[in-house]
Amino acid sequence: MPEYQTHAYDVLVIGAGGAGLRAAIEAAATGVSVGVISKSLLGKAHTVMAEGGIAAAMGNVDERDNWRVHFADTMRGGQYLNNWRMAELHAKEAPECVHELEAWGALFDRTKDGRILQRNFGGHKYPRLAHVGDRTGLEMIRTLQDHGIHQGMEVHMEATVLTLLTDDGRVAGAFGYDRERGRFLLFPAKAVVLATGGIGRAYQITSNSWEYTGDGHALAYEAGAALMDMEFVQFHPTGMIWPPSVRGILVTEGVRGEGGVLRNKEGRRFMFDDIPELYRKQTADNDEEGWRYTQGDKEARRPPELLTRDHIARSIVREIKEGRGSPHGGVFLDISWIKERLPNAAEHIKRKLPSMYHQFKQLADIDITKEPMEVGPTTHYMMGGVQVDGDTQMSTLPGLFAAGECAAGLHGANRLGGNSLSDLLVFGKRAGHYAAGFAKEHGTARIDPQQADRAAAAALAPFERGDKGEGPYQIQHQLQESMQNLVGIVRTEQEMQRALGEIEQFRERSRRVGVAGNREYNGGWHTALDLPNLLTVSEAVTRAALGRPESRGAHFREDRPSKDAESGKMNIVIRKGPDGRMQVARQPIAEMPAELKQIIQEMS
Ligand SMILES: Cc1cc2nc3c(=O)[nH]c(=O)nc-3n(C[C@H](O)[C@H](O)[C@H](O)COP(=O)(O)OP(=O)(O)OC[C@H]3O[C@@H](n4cnc5c(N)ncnc54)[C@H](O)[C@@H]3O)c2cc1C
Repeated sequence: MPEYQTHAYDVLVIGAGGAGLRAAIEAAATGVSVGVISKSLLGKAHTVMAEGGIAAAMGNVDERDNWRVHFADTMRGGQYLNNWRMAELHAKEAPECVHELEAWGALFDRTKDGRILQRNFGGHKYPRLAHVGDRTGLEMIRTLQDHGIHQGMEVHMEATVLTLLTDDGRVAGAFGYDRERGRFLLFPAKAVVLATGGIGRAYQITSNSWEYTGDGHALAYEAGAALMDMEFVQFHPTGMIWPPSVRGILVTEGVRGEGGVLRNKEGRRFMFDDIPELYRKQTADNDEEGWRYTQGDKEARRPPELLTRDHIARSIVREIKEGRGSPHGGVFLDISWIKERLPNAAEHIKRKLPSMYHQFKQLADIDITKEPMEVGPTTHYMMGGVQVDGDTQMSTLPGLFAAGECAAGLHGANRLGGNSLSDLLVFGKRAGHYAAGFAKEHGTARIDPQQADRAAAAALAPFERGDKGEGPYQIQHQLQESMQNLVGIVRTEQEMQRALGEIEQFRERSRRVGVAGNREYNGGWHTALDLPNLLTVSEAVTRAALGRPESRGAHFREDRPSKDAESGKMNIVIRKGPDGRMQVARQPIAEMPAELKQIIQEMS
């Protein structure tokens, strides 16, 4: 084995977003040594982009809220495919996690009597999102970083993990490279926590940044762990659509939480046209009631713009397809109309939604206090991921844990806004705790030098092909186009079969990719190394979607538009088979305990 720069830890955390940092803090607090690896600079993880807030049933704005309502909302939103144990733990533990963040220095917006302010969000029955204007993620990551670095963790920035190392059926560490110099890095570890975020870059239009190439999903799959729910990709209903350079950038649901409404080109508020049965009783009958809800009237029901994201995204697609879209192929989101109701509306909007105000002003020359925004769906969040145990977050590979967006279970078929930031805190904390416990109990694993050498040779192969190989960008671009068009918001079997064929061809081409130049900060090389991960998650999404012959939550099949009762009791699980091919299986969901069933019935 060549000499690799080596850093050994008890617990290695891959990813420095909310989930990774929270896991690292918890593990370090038990006295074990902790290393954190981040593909980008510390503080630049996706979590920093989160706008709307952290869902936690603290009942500060509406005292009727409690963990039981939050649990029922999360399960309903996920169309009952959720891991109910995770939904229970999440609802119970999120408030304490928010208070912990506050104790570490996070400054939240306040109610008049000084408690943490909570705002309305889609699918949440009561105002539940603790927030800091529309910059909640920034405050969260700042607080976790400040607290974390005092716990003694070591951080490796701009380091990318290429493969997980295993030893006799357990995880043994990770192997990667640093972006700056292109040197290889070896990380022996007793336990590993994956916290690598999402897969948005598998699609053409996305709110996700360059890092989200599904690395954690692919690393776990290649190491032998199971993936679950990969068919459920969330398309957020409101991304920017104009100008083209900013297409996909998120427009927070907070806009609708503050009273923003969706209209088509005829000026009609189309979200009243089609209210799903599951939500009919909880939805306002008219504009007036919806407005009262956003202003805190406890007798009013929520406006249809605060239905779940899957439904709103499909309603927008319907308006566009039927010729009622906006000039650039979206619909209108209007918050400026609240000037009819509030005397100081412009100031109110700027105070409540400062980032949105600046985003539109600077990127689209639109003043959202005066005119509507043009918006359309954007690939946003991955419900599917590494299959984990609900309590410990350990995957099916001993010693490998996963938390945050790269783990599956909590959100089922559709995530409610705000439930990701709380997910990171609750399950990041749990993953860190149990990973530290595993490290203490199981001791050091053996590093197999051949595993590292193989990964190094594969990583350097594109340089050997040099200019003679195909460039990686073109393949990446075509893959994104293929996923967008064939495995997007609305799917059919025929299109998905076509996608599988195309993915296979992209895979063939990716084996012949060549890059020029040297190993220092070589963007082409990094893209070539991301490609296998993008291909793995794209194939997993497509195969899982083919394995679910129904429409549920974020997964809508035009050829199977109804729900199928049998499929509603199953998760789709994906593993790498002994022949190296992807195996897809339907796994029955464990029976829910009677007391949880009772809660769901009471809240229906
Ligand atoms: C614009 C926007 C707004 C959002 N608003 C909200 C909101 O208001 N409320 C809410 O609940 N959710 C929101 N979300 C979703 C939420 O922000 C994310 O789901 C969440 O932050 C994911 O956190 P994470 O810790 O799992 O991963 P991330 O924060 O995505 O961090 C992933 C980390 O893994 C690292 N990494 C990835 N691959 C590798 C590799 N191969 N090697 C080493 N490191 C690697 C990355 O560098 C990064 O450090 C929003 C998302 C976006 C994009």
